[in-house]
Amino acid sequence: MSRSAHPAGPRHADVLPEGHYTAPADDLNALDPKVWAHTVGRDADGVVTVGGLPVTQLAEEYGTPAYVLDEADFRDRARAWRTAFGADADVFYAGKAFLSRAVVRWLDEEGLNLDVCSGGELATALAAGMAAERIAFHGNNKSPEEIERAVRAGVGRIVLDSFQEIVRVAHIAQSLGKRQRVQIRITVGVEAHTHEFIATAHEDQKFGIPLAGGQAAEAVRRALQLDGLEVIGIHSHIGSQIFDMSGFEVAAHRVVGLLKDIRDEHGVELPEIDLGGGLGIAYTSDDDPREPHEIAKALTEIVTRECEAARLATPRISVEPGRAIVGPTAFTLYEVGTVKPLDGLRTYVSVDGGMSDNIRTALYDAEYSVALVSRTSDAEPMLVRVVGKHCESGDIVVKDAFLPGDLAPGDLIAVPATGAYCRSMASNYNHALRPPVVAVRDGAARVIVRRETEEDLLRLDVG
Ligand SMILES: *Cc1c(COP(=O)(O)O)cnc(C)c1O
Repeated sequence: MSRSAHPAGPRHADVLPEGHYTAPADDLNALDPKVWAHTVGRDADGVVTVGGLPVTQLAEEYGTPAYVLDEADFRDRARAWRTAFGADADVFYAGKAFLSRAVVRWLDEEGLNLDVCSGGELATALAAGMAAERIAFHGNNKSPEEIERAVRAGVGRIVLDSFQEIVRVAHIAQSLGKRQRVQIRITVGVEAHTHEFIATAHEDQKFGIPLAGGQAAEAVRRALQLDGLEVIGIHSHIGSQIFDMSGFEVAAHRVVGLLKDIRDEHGVELPEIDLGGGLGIAYTSDDDPREPHEIAKALTEIVTRECEAARLATPRISVEPGRAIVGPTAFTLYEVGTVKPLDGLRTYVSVDGGMSDNIRTALYDAEYSVALVSRTSDAEPMLVRVVGKHCESGDIVVKDAFLPGDLAPGDLIAVPATGAYCRSMASNYNHALRPPVVAVRDGAARVIVRRETEEDLLRLDVG
């Protein structure tokens, strides 16, 4: 971490305000491969290209703001996860990070499974032709209609989240003459975020059934008695944007402990455990995520070791990365509208989008990086805050970053690592039109989610 209130270096502005930012990179024109999609580079004119296409051309053809997604990178990352875990494990892409029919087809082709957590996500997956048995259905409050639809479709598993849902799914499956494969989601008392995790006995959150106080064991007891259910395993998801694997270690220890108790009490060894998602990505150069093969190795070793100690056969492992697959594959392309220097503070750079296309900064105080992409510049770095055009002072996209001091209206800037939880959380605040997702590959671009229009807005407003 190279953060300080007063970064040293020859090229920063004379006066810098108190703040939480990284010292400017030596070369603001450089693009750190950690935070940019694989095929991103600059052409001879200094214009950033992705998938072989200059961003200036993409902006002209598709407008700004736009999410630009590197399809080759998406496929590479999906395949890396699939390969890392091998044939004895399953990788479920968490659709809530970003889902469209094109993405579902890519996942299908790369051999991944899919997590959905609403009727809408299920409909998208099925519409794209994903085989139902490769879909897992999640959520803490699935409606009876959603459950019925999932059971009828034949989803591979429903992840049960409460005592009431155990009964609900069992009844619906039985009334349809089916036996539904289910996992039971438990909370193991591990909360993991970025660089730290907390292991406690209790977990105060809406998801899952607590291991504490024997509640998870009771849930398994009840589920095993119901004819409509086939209990295939235990599910645990401990957090998001995690770099530290020790949280998974504690979680796996506790999940395997439950498997052992189940074996001792019921004489059954559940065949699967799901360790969830939450693996971190690089939003700025300060973040150092692990590679899928390192994560696979670490998780497999932890589970194998814990099972050997409990004298259980190692169950089939599944994981559910969302952000780690799609996050780094896209950037948001914006046009600069105004540049407003505030003396002794910072320069506010306003773009043509904002919190409606990226709520993460406002919601989670997320950090992002940003670069000038329509040209290079040798101007001195200036400390900027990239803000949107919404009527809200918290409408911040990038809180603190450096851009060249000659930045001007009409320049294109891009915020990398916006593939996850940006389009999927986009809103119509201020009746903003949600941006398109443009997929690029091998010199060709294709809109996979089109830009919203005013007609789209007015269609819902029935007058
Ligand atoms: C959100 C979620 C994921 C994916 O999380 P990422 O941080 O995108 O990897 C996986 N599993 C469950 C149950 C989730 O709720």
